[in-house]
Amino acid sequence: MNTIYKQCAHCGAPIKLTTVLPHHSPGGTLWSDGYLEIPGVPEPPVLGKCRACGAIGCLAELATIENAVPPASEAEYNVVPLTLDDYALLLDNLEEIAAPFHPYLRIRFWQLNNNRRRREDDAIPLSDVERANLTELLQLLGEEDANRLLKVEILRQLQEFEVAKKVLGAISTDMANGRLDDKYAPLIARLQQSVAEGNARLMVIYSC
Ligand SMILES: [Zn+2]
Repeated sequence: MNTIYKQCAHCGAPIKLTTVLPHHSPGGTLWSDGYLEIPGVPEPPVLGKCRACGAIGCLAELATIENAVPPASEAEYNVVPLTLDDYALLLDNLEEIAAPFHPYLRIRFWQLNNNRRRREDDAIPLSDVERANLTELLQLLGEEDANRLLKVEILRQLQEFEVAKKVLGAISTDMANGRLDDKYAPLIARLQQSVAEGNARLMVIYSC
């Protein structure tokens, strides 16, 4: 663990960030929506809220306070993670947010909504708001390998199985021609099976 302090762009208060060193990989559960759950380790946030004034900012873009003296009550400065309501509000005000953040906001909104399916019931149907979000997200994702696979997963959850099969077919061809990293093979096999079965439920890809 590594602690740094960022400065809120709105009120100047320190925002405490704890980052996990990249080589520290304690295992976890990867879900089909790309959500990686590592017990006891919070996901490093991209956007966070200042505890002092409530302003939401991109944490990486905030100035780092060099040689910060840890405050007496450190908990007061912990970054506040965004909630599902925060993401819904941000998505309602997208015109105020820089375009490069839009895919991230939509992916987080999707993943946070899926937490109910992770914890309660994977058969909970998508709400209209979730469907609209995924339809918009599909348009935003590029042609990188990971994004193509994410598109298949979105199509699967939207029950657009025929379109998902077509995208998967193109991905499989690229795989056979060595144009896709072998590491995706198990995920592709898993997606192919569930699309063939007409299964739209959220899945665990691996757990270790
Ligand atoms: Zn602030």
